[in-house]
Amino acid sequence: MADIGRVPYQLIWQTSLRSYEGIIYQNTADNPAGIRPLGGRGKQRTAHGIAFCPECLAGDQMPYFRRRWRVSYVVACMEHRRLLLDACPGCASSIMVISADEGAKSFPRYPHWTRCIRCGYDWRREGDLAESISLSDSFWQLQSQIHGAITHSWTIGPDGSEIMSLGYFQGLRYLLRALIGYQSHIKIREIVAPHFGELALPPQRSQRSSFDLLRQCDRVFLMRYLAWLLEEWPDQYIAAAIGAKLRPSYLDMYRGDIPFWLSKAFDACRSHPHYPTSNEEWESARLYLQRRGMEGNNFQVSKLVGRYWTVRRSSGTRDAANDYKLSSM
Ligand SMILES: [Zn+2]
Ligand SMILES: [Zn+2]
Repeated sequence: MADIGRVPYQLIWQTSLRSYEGIIYQNTADNPAGIRPLGGRGKQRTAHGIAFCPECLAGDQMPYFRRRWRVSYVVACMEHRRLLLDACPGCASSIMVISADEGAKSFPRYPHWTRCIRCGYDWRREGDLAESISLSDSFWQLQSQIHGAITHSWTIGPDGSEIMSLGYFQGLRYLLRALIGYQSHIKIREIVAPHFGELALPPQRSQRSSFDLLRQCDRVFLMRYLAWLLEEWPDQYIAAAIGAKLRPSYLDMYRGDIPFWLSKAFDACRSHPHYPTSNEEWESARLYLQRRGMEGNNFQVSKLVGRYWTVRRSSGTRDAANDYKLSSM
């Protein structure tokens, strides 16, 4: 492309999604985290992987689709301070950008790639999709920070420290996964949604339940919740996590490293009765008790290591500390 267009290779590289590697995502997998998949191939796209801002397209001398519109965390245009659309306003089908030059020798005088190939709607037209949800300042701050983090490869973390964009986005993904909450034990959305006067309805379930595969409307809702969680970091998050009885260990167990800014907040809301005692600790506590002339049974050990508490589980039959002991053996 660089040769044919007679432009520097670097310029072409900067238009590619691959150049986001190390900024948004880490691996070179086919479906990198944070990039919305197109699904299907050619003219048969199954996912709504392309979003656009009608005002940006209308303002371009030669309309073009911005690279950042493929990034799943980008749900709004900062220039026009409006939400992006991920479907054709004319027929609600996914956006497909194809060259469709029909073998013409010369570059077309009038751009046709802003028209829907299904219904002919020109995406530069606004459509009558008035925004009916209110967007808070923190939502716009978060969007602005995401735009900045993509551009500069570093950013200011929620705790005020300078961090690499990669670590920032990794942390956002953890929180978004908790907010999506398909797992029945993660109820943090139920704490956040009422603050917006909304029901905590889960996003439409897709096959892989990934944030990147969600539709724009679901991602906007989750981004609003995320912006709320990040306000006054980490106090608001800790309060919500404790309110939702979200144990950090549930988030810890996901694959991948937790960035430091997030793990600090996890530590702050760690439930101490859930301190995981290792077998060695348990054994040495038992021996210690036996040396002191006690039996060293599970109850005594639980009490010694601070894992004894009186709240019983809903089943009401077994002590939670005993439960833990059994599962760890
Ligand atoms: Zn725009
Ligand atoms: Zn259409």
